[in-house]
Amino acid sequence: MFKVNENYLKLPGSYLFSTIGKKVNAYAAANPDKKIIRLGIGDVTQPLPAAVVEALHKAVDEMADASTFHGYAPDLGYEFLRNAIVENDFRARGCDIRADEIFVSDGAKSDSANIQEIFGLDNKIAVCDPVYPVYVDSNVMAGRTGSYDAVSETWSEVIYMPCTAENGFVPELPEKTPDMIYLCFPNNPTGCTITKDQLQVWVDYANKVGAVIIFDAAYEAYIAQEDVPHSIYECDGARTCAIELRSFSKNAGFTGLRLAYTVVPGDLKAGDVALNGLWARRHGTKYNGAPYIVQRAGEAVYSKEGKQQIREMVGRYMKNAHYILEGLKGAGYEVYGGVNSPYVWMKTPDKMTSWEFFDYLLEKANVVGTPGSGFGPSGEHYFRLTAFGSYENTVEAVERIKGI
Ligand code: PLP
Repeated sequence: MFKVNENYLKLPGSYLFSTIGKKVNAYAAANPDKKIIRLGIGDVTQPLPAAVVEALHKAVDEMADASTFHGYAPDLGYEFLRNAIVENDFRARGCDIRADEIFVSDGAKSDSANIQEIFGLDNKIAVCDPVYPVYVDSNVMAGRTGSYDAVSETWSEVIYMPCTAENGFVPELPEKTPDMIYLCFPNNPTGCTITKDQLQVWVDYANKVGAVIIFDAAYEAYIAQEDVPHSIYECDGARTCAIELRSFSKNAGFTGLRLAYTVVPGDLKAGDVALNGLWARRHGTKYNGAPYIVQRAGEAVYSKEGKQQIREMVGRYMKNAHYILEGLKGAGYEVYGGVNSPYVWMKTPDKMTSWEFFDYLLEKANVVGTPGSGFGPSGEHYFRLTAFGSYENTVEAVERIKGI
């Protein structure tokens, strides 16, 4: 009889979004006259920028003609896209990254889940708490996390680094030494970020203890403040200790189109084994490349018009974030994030649990957010609101919250 991968059976149910869905549906069925506003989603709502749509049309036409048709893409991605990435995302910021260190893919979710495959099973991972759940669950599936304790909602072999108001949502260096460190800044779910000096401390630490940092910069486009790094490669020494993940989902609205990339510098080595070669091997074996038309769409993000249009798109979401932040502050709530990120992270009032506040907000204001405890134990007593809705809905939701 065949056997399943038993590690999958260790995964606790992912109750967060299904429980939210069930609660919202039950409330909507019982109160059909109420207009529910959803500020819980992490998906974008604005249409694709015009420059992207134009590039898509053009590429589709090329695919319709035998002389310009494209089949399988090159393993690492088309050079036109990798060159545009290097110029705009790295050289323009003074980072020393080459095109052969860029691996184009279909998403930062899959990259963040798959990257662990090139590391040994006895490596110890460290994650921020609260955390984007993919980092932990992908390591559970691989069998790297030990046993699960349902009471503390933690894994025995995972190092959790609490990120709370007390430490400004930036983790402290852990007491136990990790081998793989997942960092995500600007952060989902806290919406907070890290300064370049703070990130430099992590780079120096990783180089000292021989750890690798997996740096998720999916929300880079939302950075507004000067001292916040856009890439970990702005820090000295990052080429020998860091992998960076980027996505076109949140800067250019590609959540339904799918495009991302991973940077694995040539200098990143375990002894004399270069990780770039391992990831190239993994990519070439298990992945046949992002579609030509989507890579052309990605190239258009870096055109003059594309850059202007994505700036406007991000600006629209950030106007929402600002409205949420200022509105809730004015109403006396303790709020964080929302400055370099589309996420606002609020403290629940009157020591309510995250789920109590979820129910309270749904009933009293008909507004849906995401309970912080769903992202990890240190997310308890926090609540996430997102800026990805329309401006009108955002304003109405905030006014309702202010009125309760
Ligand atoms: N990384 C983080 C931190 C995210 O919040 C998300 C999506 O919400 C992703 C990665 C997924 O990005 P992609 O759409 O490129 O798979």
